[in-house]
Parts: sequence; C-alpha cells; structure tokens
Amino acid sequence: MDHIVSLCKRRGFIYPGSEIYGGFANTYTFGPYGSELRKNIKDLWWKTFVQGRRDMVGIDGGILLHPRAWEASGHVAGFNDAMVDCKNCKARHRADHLIENALKVDAEGLSEEDLTKLIVENDVKCPKCGEKDFTDARNFNLMFKTELSKTKDDENIAYLRPETAQAIFLEFKNVVDTTRVKVPFGIGQIGKAFRNEITPGNFIFRLIEFEQMEIEYFIRPENWEPLFEEWLQEQHKWCEMIGLNKEKVSEYEHPQDKLSHYSKRTVDIMYDFPFGRSELYGLAYRTDFDLTQHQEYSGKKLEYRDPQTNETYIPHVLEPTWGVDRSILAVLCDAYHEEQLEEGDSRIVMKFAKCIAPVKVAVMPLMKKDGLPEKAQEIYDTLSQKWNVEYDDGGSIGKRYRRQDEIGTPFCITVDYETIKEDDAVTVRDRDSMQQERVKIEELGSWIEEHLL
Ligand code: ATP
Repeated sequence: MDHIVSLCKRRGFIYPGSEIYGGFANTYTFGPYGSELRKNIKDLWWKTFVQGRRDMVGIDGGILLHPRAWEASGHVAGFNDAMVDCKNCKARHRADHLIENALKVDAEGLSEEDLTKLIVENDVKCPKCGEKDFTDARNFNLMFKTELSKTKDDENIAYLRPETAQAIFLEFKNVVDTTRVKVPFGIGQIGKAFRNEITPGNFIFRLIEFEQMEIEYFIRPENWEPLFEEWLQEQHKWCEMIGLNKEKVSEYEHPQDKLSHYSKRTVDIMYDFPFGRSELYGLAYRTDFDLTQHQEYSGKKLEYRDPQTNETYIPHVLEPTWGVDRSILAVLCDAYHEEQLEEGDSRIVMKFAKCIAPVKVAVMPLMKKDGLPEKAQEIYDTLSQKWNVEYDDGGSIGKRYRRQDEIGTPFCITVDYETIKEDDAVTVRDRDSMQQERVKIEELGSWIEEHLL
C-alpha cells in the first residue's frame, strides 16, 4: 500500500487534502492523472449501464433532499455506528471494529449493550494507548447535518446525502410519467455521498466524502431471483472491464440475520486489497421498502400501472451499487507492477486497462531541434482532439518511457529523423510488451483506435 500511496502523490494521481494547511484528515484531492482516471471510470460506467441499455435512464439528483426523505428511508433512526471513547487517551473507536480486531469475531449489528459487555468481559485494549477503560458503546448517526439559514429552529436542519439511492426513489414517479420506461427498468445516477465515518482510513478506501454509481432497477417481485443473478454477473463483468484480476474478486453473501432493514438479500463484491479482502461493490434486493416508505411519508401515490394489464402495484427494486473511489483504489492496486528488466534495470508500470488509462498516448520528439518538435506538435494537435495525450520532450527517451510507464500510458510515439526525412512514420512503443512498431502518421489515428480496444 505504501508504494501505491507514494506513487499517487509523486505522480499526480492523489494528493492529501488541504496539504498547505497541514492537511485535513481523510480528505484527498484527485490530481491531473487521478481526475482523468476517475472521469474515465465514471464515463465507462455511464456508457455501459445507462447509454448502452434500452431499459435504463439516468438522473442527476441533489446532494440535499427534503429531510423527511431521510426519516422515510430509515437513515435518521437507523444509520448508526456504535462508538466507544477511550477515557485515557480520548480516542474514539467503532465498537464493532474494536472487537473484531481484538477478538477476531464478527460483531456487526450487535446492540450497544452487547458491544459494551464484550469489550469489558474480554479486557479489550485501546489500540492507541493500551488502556482498558472505555465509555459504554453509544450510537452515532453517520449523516452529516447542515443548517439552512432561514430561521433558527429544527425545521432548518438538512442532511448531506449518505447515499445517492434516495433521490432516485423520490423521482420514480416523475421518470415514469415523463419517459417511456416500462417495468423492468432502471434509473442510474453518479454522485457524491457523505458519511461521518469515525474510523475512515486505508487511503481512499473509507472516506467521509466519496462518490457512488448506483442503479435502482424496478421489477415485478416474482422476477427478483433471476434478475438478481443477472446483476451480479453484470458487476463481475464490470470488474473485468476495468481490468481487475478475476482471482482477486469474490462474493460475500450477507447472512439472513445480518441483513439491513430494507434488504431480503445482499451480496458484496469483495476485492483482495493489500490490507485484506474488503467490500468493493454491493448488490441488494431492497423489495418495495423504499417506495412504500416514501409513499407513506409523502402522502403521494408511488404506484406503477402496467400498461398491458392496467394492474397497479409498487415495484420492487434491485440495487447494484459501485463506489467510485473504491474502484479507483482497486484499479490502482491491480495495475501496480514493479518489473525487473535486462541489465539490472527495473521499472514501475501501471498496467491500467487501456479504456480507463488517464493518458492514452505520449508524443515525444527525439530531439528538441531540427523540426522534430514541430512535427511532434502537429501529431499532438491531431490526436488530442480525440484522446488525452501528453507531450513529453524532457530527458532521454528511456527516461520518458519510464515516466509514462509510471502513469500507465499505453502508447509512446517517438518522432525521429527518419520521420521527417524518410518515411513520414513514427515509432510506437507498447507499455506492456515494450515492443516497438513503425506506423505511418496518416494511419496513426486508426492504429490507436484499434489498439485501445
Ligand atoms: P462498508 O461496509 O465498507 O461501510 P457499506 O456496506 O456501508 O460499506 P454501501 O452503503 O453498500 O456501503 O455503499 C455502497 C458502496 O459505496 C460501497 O460498496 C462502497 O463501494 C462505497 N462506499 C460506502 N462507504 C464508503 C466510504 N466511506 N468511502 C468510500 N466508499 C464508500
């Protein structure tokens, strides 16, 4: 992990947030390459699941929703983590994580009383100071509260959304009334979510501000099982599309007695991160819980009328959900390779799937003279209309290759003397095989197009 974190900082993928002010814990800025990678992942997702499917549409809801929506969804009452404070060093810990780390037992979903009892009876120590003197476990809501400035009473409290899903339920009726969707259909959305996680960490794995790509897929209840399997396979296919090693991806079926209040079945897609196997994505069968709740709390009918049979009912919902930041982290971990080359040389290479690589092509004039830069600039101008291209003229070609390997650029194009004097062609070097090939300038665009697939 340390190598990846340091490469991310050194090469402009991810910087610690607000660094010039001494940092602001667990916040990050995605730098020039990180933001390209992020955008490519989101674009690919949208293209795959919204644009590419006839049964899907997209929306872009707000971060702020009516506060009653969060009462209806169960978040105000139930979106809690139980915490304990160390009375000696004042560190705050998530009670279930404290127990799981110390006793190696699953403590998720236990009551405040049971968590307190387990900690006391097993003499669990504070990981920070080693003392065994904790407060009782108490629930803290994970939602960020904010205040509207109209007047000073409670009605002006609003929440930053802890998940993007709820905006989709709130707009269910609008989407059905204004588009031609028919059950089964899905609504997809990409956007920021906020959780006041008390123990964020593992770089960008657990953040307080993160981004989700979510789908609510509306179905008839009797069809949920085969469609659940289909979505699970779609999520596996997605992992392959972004280049994740199949062997590092697995499933975790939530036991029936540990399911969230809204779910009848939940499967997590797990990834073997360097710090252990952890949740990458999730798939939940949320039944008709959310639409029923919003219908009750809003007093507005959220039923669907089947156009063929005229039957009205509240559709059930499958929810495949993807974290953008966890996708990026998995992609970074998977792509990172340290390779030994001939003659004691070595390289770090990020073997990103080409479709999400932040820079697709680097254009390099062999020398900064004799008309080579002008030719290289011309090629840059043409290719950059279509792809994110980098112009690199600093240092030896070998150094420039290493630099591009470290940011995972699939192809490096070198403009040399032969280019301008003899063949109007360039050398294209492949990131993974390091093989070189001569390609005519007029054929470069289609060559790259073909090889990026
Ligand atoms: P965890 O068990 O790790 O806390 P969760 O089960 O609460 O996650 P969901 O509510 O299912 O997560 O959220 C859907 C997806 O959003 C997750 O699969 C993950 O990719 C992402 N996600 C959730 N919480 C965070 C976070 N704090 N930081 C970054 N990504 C997150």
